[in-house]
Amino acid sequence: MISVKRTFLRLALLAPLLVLAAAQANEPIYRPKAQLVTKDVYAIVGPLGQRSEANAGLNANYGFIVTSSGVILIDSGASAHSAALLDKAVKEVTPKPIRWVLNTGSQDHRWLGNDYFAKRGAEIHAMANTVQTQKAVSQQQLQGLERFVGQQLKGSVALQANQVHPAPERALSIDGVRIQWIETNAHYPGDTMIYLPEASVVFTGDLVYVDRILGVLPQSNVRKAQKGFQRLEVIRPKHVVPGHGRVTDLAQAKRETGDYYDFLIKNVGAAARNMDSIGETLDKFANPKQFMHLQNFSELHRPNMNRVFVDFEANP
Ligand SMILES: [Zn+2]
Repeated sequence: MISVKRTFLRLALLAPLLVLAAAQANEPIYRPKAQLVTKDVYAIVGPLGQRSEANAGLNANYGFIVTSSGVILIDSGASAHSAALLDKAVKEVTPKPIRWVLNTGSQDHRWLGNDYFAKRGAEIHAMANTVQTQKAVSQQQLQGLERFVGQQLKGSVALQANQVHPAPERALSIDGVRIQWIETNAHYPGDTMIYLPEASVVFTGDLVYVDRILGVLPQSNVRKAQKGFQRLEVIRPKHVVPGHGRVTDLAQAKRETGDYYDFLIKNVGAAARNMDSIGETLDKFANPKQFMHLQNFSELHRPNMNRVFVDFEANP
């Protein structure tokens, strides 16, 4: 009797804490779901916010192509745990096995699920410079990711591609699907985009963000990104699967990404070359109307400008 009472008391004391935890964890649990882009080509659009246990680190876009004998998966997720969630989303569309995984880049959620799929028989493909960056950043990424997804990282092994393609551009055919693989070096060195000419689809990797503003990191290169975007415009794909944000067309990609690269280079880069004051420059270009509706604008725009300024100051 006494022990029951004690237990009850303990639960009563815990209750407010549980309520608090529930309030903090009000982010909905994200379950990846495939959407058809065009015949046999699918996208999995992740949420726009930060990595979390609720989204399993899948805060990016993925894709897959159903071929005659299997599935080509584009990007493998942030861990073995999240790779299994992507696997399930593919299985809801087709019973065919994932036989090929292509990494568009080296950010954690693009490749830390490789090992999960390799263990199930998939070949892992990437371009040479992507692999190089993956090797350089893997330990740091696993540590960083643990802060966001905790226990979900258990059992994840950083496995690089076993099929490495020469940069900067590679044409290949997988199970009859033609692929043009193009290096962009936009967000991370060795970033790439994957063009499917027959379907007129480009999986842009982290070259293109829509609905949310892109992030310029210390390892990003806006000049290379601008060139990458110009290449995308030459391709003129009917469908654009961006690195983040909804499946879209070239016009939205241009408005929300291509124009932003141009804006940063034309204004902030030019001011740095001109040896203007950094503070005045960042204030002057703080409120570009055409980009302010994008999610994460208030957190990222100023740091983005700051990095571009510093970059152009060092490399005018
Ligand atoms: Zn990304």
